[in-house]
Amino acid sequence: AHDLAATIERLSAQGIHSVLAQFTDLHGVPKGKLVPLALLAEWVHSGAGFAGPSIWGTGLPRHGARSEYFGRLAPESLRPLPFMPGVAHAVCDGFAGGVPLDTCPRQVLKRQLARAVQRGLTLWVGIEPEFFLLRRDSEGHWVAGDGEDRLAKPSYDLKAMHRQRDFLDDMRATLTALGFELQQMDHEDANGQYEINYKFDEALAAADRFQLFQLSAHAVAERHGFVYSGMPKPLAHAPGSGLHFHLSLTDAQGRAVFAHASGPMGLSAAGLGFAAGLLHHGDALAALCAPTVNSYKRLAASHSASGTTWAPVWKAVGDNNRTCLLRTVAGRLEWRLPDPSCNVYIAIAATLAAGLAGLDGELPPPEPCDEDLYERQACGLPMPPRLPRDLCAALDALEADTRLRADVGEAFCAQFLRLKRAEWDAWASAVTDWELSRYAG
Ligand code: GLU
Ligand code: MG
Ligand code: MG
Repeated sequence: AHDLAATIERLSAQGIHSVLAQFTDLHGVPKGKLVPLALLAEWVHSGAGFAGPSIWGTGLPRHGARSEYFGRLAPESLRPLPFMPGVAHAVCDGFAGGVPLDTCPRQVLKRQLARAVQRGLTLWVGIEPEFFLLRRDSEGHWVAGDGEDRLAKPSYDLKAMHRQRDFLDDMRATLTALGFELQQMDHEDANGQYEINYKFDEALAAADRFQLFQLSAHAVAERHGFVYSGMPKPLAHAPGSGLHFHLSLTDAQGRAVFAHASGPMGLSAAGLGFAAGLLHHGDALAALCAPTVNSYKRLAASHSASGTTWAPVWKAVGDNNRTCLLRTVAGRLEWRLPDPSCNVYIAIAATLAAGLAGLDGELPPPEPCDEDLYERQACGLPMPPRLPRDLCAALDALEADTRLRADVGEAFCAQFLRLKRAEWDAWASAVTDWELSRYAG
């Protein structure tokens, strides 16, 4: 058991007086409140209380004993926040009526990880955040980057990196102080777009860490006059932002389960089975991994001004093939579907559920794709099956995929479908500038 008194003493000595108790709503947005460090035992054992129905997707009633959402704080996650002096951050698990809440995204992921543990398996995830630095101009329009950032092909642009050195260095210092092991930072392929990579982790820690990454990026970007944006496709004619997951499983002996040096694409039978599960459930996974109207603008089979957008469109797997939905890299799987508008707990849970279904082995192993699929499309050749073209089609696929819904958890999926159908309906009845310019006159 965690020695809470010692933790309070240690943090107090560092000048910490409050805890930011953070949970994640259905839309993947970190939410929470500030509570006094001195009462840590209460936040750990009973939880910080929130009005349940005020949180997206809890499904909790407006009154009665179960209307209260209790965020029970995980004491091992406590970390002083560099951008909120005096405050330590901690993640919470959702409880209601004294039991784990089955609509809490972190609980959904924990249940899925427990299914893997029953098979002796541990999931490791390396999450690759791509994002935009946005600003509003004097007329209130969103613009990407600093205004100087307007190359035709800005991948790895060092001039923009140099202009943003203060932001990047602030990110480095902040993430390092939070215990991230940084691997690289670069300018991505759209103006104003960056990627920051850090070391992979066990799945739950990786999800928690990504939420902390986003909180940090928001705070740091704001300090430098920008808005951190995880919107999948803010610019119509440039690549969008993905949130690729590098996946590997280890067995009880710590051996990598997916890798087999002489297997197809460097994969073992289990790796091929897991890949088959991801491709087979791909349409339903799209709803959970690319869950916004805007996600499908990233996932369009279009080329950007600078060449391809590198967003996955076709349900295929290839060895080091970035034109496929699934790319294998040295016996790992790079799952390219997720984007930063996802709920990372849910996207990982759903991906694992589909992979575990694939491990059960009824699906034929996928054929390796060793072609440039963009090139193939340009030549008008038959293509592998496509991902859903919009959120509505993805939601229909999730609704139809009873196996995946059951494995991820019906309670969460019901809330998700209800809120996301409403989001689609709101979009479907919006009249956009594009429509006015096309049809009005
Ligand atoms: N931005 C691309 C995407 O939307 C990915 C580019 C890359 O492979 O790093 O997924
Ligand atoms: Mg990238
Ligand atoms: Mg990647």
